[in-house]
Amino acid sequence: MSESNEIPIFRRGFGLKEQVREDLAQDYRSRLIEEIRSRGNRLQVGDLTILLAKEFGFCYGVERAVDYAYETKKQFPQRRVFLTTELIHNPRVNNNLREMGIGFLNGPGEGDCSIDDLTPQDVVIIAAFGTQVPEMDRLQKKGCVLVDATCGSVVLVWKRVEQYGRDGFTAIVHGNYKHEETRATVSRATQFPQGRYLVVWDKPEAQRVCDYIRTGKDKAGFLKYFDGKCSEGFDPDRDLLRVGVANQTTMLSSDSLEIGAMLKRAMADRYGAAALGEHFRSFDTICSATQDRQDAMLEMVKQKLDLAIIIGGFNSSNTGHLCEIASQYCPAYHIDEASGILSDCRIRHKPVGRTEPIVTEDWLPAGKLTIGVTAGASTPNRVIGDAIERLLEIRGYALAEEGLVR
Ligand code: SF4
Repeated sequence: MSESNEIPIFRRGFGLKEQVREDLAQDYRSRLIEEIRSRGNRLQVGDLTILLAKEFGFCYGVERAVDYAYETKKQFPQRRVFLTTELIHNPRVNNNLREMGIGFLNGPGEGDCSIDDLTPQDVVIIAAFGTQVPEMDRLQKKGCVLVDATCGSVVLVWKRVEQYGRDGFTAIVHGNYKHEETRATVSRATQFPQGRYLVVWDKPEAQRVCDYIRTGKDKAGFLKYFDGKCSEGFDPDRDLLRVGVANQTTMLSSDSLEIGAMLKRAMADRYGAAALGEHFRSFDTICSATQDRQDAMLEMVKQKLDLAIIIGGFNSSNTGHLCEIASQYCPAYHIDEASGILSDCRIRHKPVGRTEPIVTEDWLPAGKLTIGVTAGASTPNRVIGDAIERLLEIRGYALAEEGLVR
């Protein structure tokens, strides 16, 4: 627990790990996944070979956040407990929390309570992506009990961005400007008088920034394009003189590295390599869990898959990037739950680059197949196990008959 303005903020749980262990196992454990792991991440059933990536599913930050949420409910059974927003980007987990009686200040849906209506008796859990500085200030002023489940890897990015703001470097963040984590991160920059930020989503957007750095042309067009993706009053002539690069922890790491290199070259072209230290800073802030899952996906897709299934919430950034990697090698389907596998003919999935799911027909070829399966960092094993069970089922195999359990 730490103190800030006399208000306690719990950052280490409540020492109730043992008491919530059984509930967590019941909600998220999968014996099927444990069995596949024990067989070297490979399951052979009839003409189906299912490969499971070496790293998949819950990361350390998500495990900690879910654990804290369950512990919080145990610690404060009589109090109202709210989450700032979805704890993590997984519908199963958020639904479970709601069923446990935990409400939401923001989404899913309209939210169950506004910050204005909180009282000092209420308990608020800050989601794994963290929260924006002004929201944190408002929560502290309300005097409610705060449980901070922000992942340590996100806090590391904040420290980097704060340093940029303190030193008068504009933070250029590779991320989704609408994502909770990126909103929280950029709010760290603007705490400082000279703190500025600009969010770039991909390489074409980074190229626009590089072009401006090199030529200084079309300021109006630049500001129009980045409207809403930069700090208030952003002036590229002033705010691109000194830049520091960071990234949302769950981006595609190869893209992040390339964007950092593009900006570095642009700054070197503009100011000369000798002066680069005064104008450019960079720090790779992809978290190790994201990196491990992307590396494992890459290793798996190189094994000649017929197709890949990637499981995770449709708003989960890291899950989407795993699908992006797989889609470069084979047909890849990002589903959120087993129910997305509608039949052996139809699948509801979110294609790379789309925001909404679609239904694809004739997705599963007949005959012998090797299918790669992985899941984003916010997907529980139970959800992955259910999807594999469903896959077997549509090909006519039952777990029990194969000597497997759920
Ligand atoms: S994906 Fe990385 S930053 Fe996000 S919660 Fe997991 S470990 Fe933390």
